[in-house]
Amino acid sequence: MRRKLAFRVAAGGCVFMLLLFAAAMLSACSDVTLPAPSLPSPVYTMSVTYDGERRVEVAQELVFTLRGDAEKIPLHLYPNAFSQRASTPPCLPEEKENFYYNGESFGNIDVSNVVLNGKTADTVISEDGGILTVSCDASAGDTITLSLNALITLPECNARLGVAQDSVNLSAFYPVLCFYDGEEWRTDAYSAIGDPFLSDISTFYVTLTAPEEYVVAASGEVTRSVLRGEDRVTEISAENVRDFALFLSPDFERETVSAETARGDVTVTYFYISDEDASATAALAARAVETFSAAFGDYPYSRFTLAEAEVGAAGMEYGTLATVSPALSAESREQTVVHETAHQWWFGVVGSDQIRTPWLDEGLTEFSAAYFHLLNGDTAAYTAAVSAARDYFSLYTSLPAAIGFDGSLSRPVSSFLTAGEYTAVVYCNGLLLFDTLLSLTGRSAFTAALADYFETCAFSVAAPSDLAAAFSRAGFDILPVLAAYGA
Ligand SMILES: [Zn+2]
Repeated sequence: MRRKLAFRVAAGGCVFMLLLFAAAMLSACSDVTLPAPSLPSPVYTMSVTYDGERRVEVAQELVFTLRGDAEKIPLHLYPNAFSQRASTPPCLPEEKENFYYNGESFGNIDVSNVVLNGKTADTVISEDGGILTVSCDASAGDTITLSLNALITLPECNARLGVAQDSVNLSAFYPVLCFYDGEEWRTDAYSAIGDPFLSDISTFYVTLTAPEEYVVAASGEVTRSVLRGEDRVTEISAENVRDFALFLSPDFERETVSAETARGDVTVTYFYISDEDASATAALAARAVETFSAAFGDYPYSRFTLAEAEVGAAGMEYGTLATVSPALSAESREQTVVHETAHQWWFGVVGSDQIRTPWLDEGLTEFSAAYFHLLNGDTAAYTAAVSAARDYFSLYTSLPAAIGFDGSLSRPVSSFLTAGEYTAVVYCNGLLLFDTLLSLTGRSAFTAALADYFETCAFSVAAPSDLAAAFSRAGFDILPVLAAYGA
């Protein structure tokens, strides 16, 4: 994610802001050259119907392998973060006016007909509505087939989920299986600050029915599109991706370019609404795919989709898809496009705990967006980006000690009270850590270590220790440096 921010941190721009399905997996991996996930990916098969107003119906079947003994299986009901029962508002007070562009509006999700392995299941919903817990009596290694129906009411708001001013934003709209970290199911609540999401690499087969006039920007690739009455039925396949999102708009225009990587060509499609230089934006996204593929390892999918959509941030990342806000300056749009494209490496392929160690996600991504310039021979632009991050972080470190600012990278997302503080620590000090590592190891070893990290941790949820291990294999003990940054 990239936030819009009151303080400027870059010239002219505001930066802020994982064998049961062996056969299915073989086909699912056809688009991917990196090692497959160590366990079969959960497979979501969904029928999604949008009514053109504020109603979405989902019929979902989820098949996955249970990692540990479980009496209960939890799923996130993220749309309830937009409901009146939510424990915290889905936006920060200072964002409310742009967020609720048409006055305060609520959304929610109602789940029914929950069937687990062929039997009607007992379910409980948490007090704030955020977690659906399904009773279960299964053991590690069992195959779970969970089917349900969901009725979602979309809020009218400029957010990751909602009917926004120029688009219909459908991310985290479906019941999402909680991440099992080896010890526990992670049921972390939604938060207005940061990206409060953590998920296994999964495969999605989606049939979308929506009024014909809506153009569809989706994770994965559209495999079929047909008219049925006044609706268009779009079949979408997104295999081994971090998550699945859809952005719909009658106003989307389309610009398609190709990025060349050693693995092969990647089709980059930009769905835009008001971008007056859409071909340049699409070309920049393709150049970022080429640059990061050459440096860190090839982008493992055949498609990357960029959508111009207002999600209440400068941009937001999803599996093989990213958004960029239509309300940005040209320079901020460029920074955001490169940042969100970098997330396809750091989030999309190599996941990390965005809730407990957000610096490993956003710090590395923000650094990569700056490194893009250096990799393309523009040392001045790289230096300017590092200086901007240092200046912004300094705004906080120079605050009176009594305020008690803590710049340590180890801080979880829940420890931040303001978006500015989150940006200073996670994005800016995170970028500064990687700049320091670059200075200490040299460009060749540094890039090789990140490429090792990318290959070793592909399709998993990595930890800071995995990053340190990659640098150790390159001959560098970075643990003292991580400690110096409080990571
Ligand atoms: Zn980001």
